[in-house]
Amino acid sequence: METAYDVVIIGGGPAGLTAGLYTSRAKLKTLLVERMILGGQVMTTTKVENYPGFPGGVDGPELMMRFQEHCQEFGLETMTGEVTALLDQGEEKIVIIDGKEVRTRAVIITTGAEPSKLGVPGEKAFTGRGVSYCATCDGAFFREVPVAIIGGGDTAAEEALFLSRFASKVYLVHRRDQLRATKVLQDRIAANEKIEPIWDSVVEDVIGDNSGVTALTLRNLKSDEVNQLEAVGMFVAVGVSPKAHFLAEILKLDPEGYILTDSDCRTSMPGVFAAGDVRKKILKQIATAVGDGAIAAIVAEKYLDGFE
Ligand code: NAP
Repeated sequence: METAYDVVIIGGGPAGLTAGLYTSRAKLKTLLVERMILGGQVMTTTKVENYPGFPGGVDGPELMMRFQEHCQEFGLETMTGEVTALLDQGEEKIVIIDGKEVRTRAVIITTGAEPSKLGVPGEKAFTGRGVSYCATCDGAFFREVPVAIIGGGDTAAEEALFLSRFASKVYLVHRRDQLRATKVLQDRIAANEKIEPIWDSVVEDVIGDNSGVTALTLRNLKSDEVNQLEAVGMFVAVGVSPKAHFLAEILKLDPEGYILTDSDCRTSMPGVFAAGDVRKKILKQIATAVGDGAIAAIVAEKYLDGFE
């Protein structure tokens, strides 16, 4: 068994880093475990315009770097590792990190969400060869060629705008005739000459050869017409799925896999809290993840003090 902690935080996005800032500042012995790189999904965002305090917007990675520096100021211990299980032993919880047991008195889960897949033929085979889930990461490889982005939410709209800097043409394929994205993004999409929306349509097949993706088969859901769209890139932005499968046996999740909590981020297991996009809630933004992280940390502190 490794050293015992007061709090183990699983996930290093905005919710996890905020929780870590609060617990470290409260002098609780805290370990934050992150599977990939600190910063979470925001690291793949070009510009964040709706996080208060940054008029004109701020680059996602820059914002997350500031979160990290702030946590370092209070001595937050972080590590890279994958958590595969959480065991409840009453007042003590065991977190399995890369096969090793780590004992802690409280746990805050901030594992966030990952991009959902379309689940159509060719999608998996061409992932990395034309199919991508991150325009910010891969968009610059698609210079002066036609690409398609699938989805109608904020992510699809932001990524379409980003891709229009590089691609010759950006088709925005959406299954309805109205975007879900916020009005300001809708207006920018409408004003961008390189972006052409294709309404009421879904991808049925990703077509390609040794060079990668060459076209998409689209079906119009109103007319049932099937067409081929020439595109060498398909960027999928159809929402996100929570990363909580490893907790399905021990915590209450909703049918989509989000962790169910009360409004103070308590899960169904005493001493275990959930914050950010992995938690069932109405709005998933950096601002709400930060709010969740702060609440989870303070409620965890109260729990450890025996006030709960
Ligand atoms: P989202 O808001 O859930 O939008 C997903 C989009 O994909 C919807 O338009 C949906 O269509 C479509 N879709 C879902 N499943 C599909 C399928 N199988 N085939 C085709 N289309 C499908 O997801 P998101 O855009 O990733 O955003 C996730 C959260 O992050 C949201 O709360 C969003 O506001 C937030 N976010 C915020 C910002 C920002 O504020 N700057 C940036 C990015 C994300 P329908 O509309 O028909 O359901």
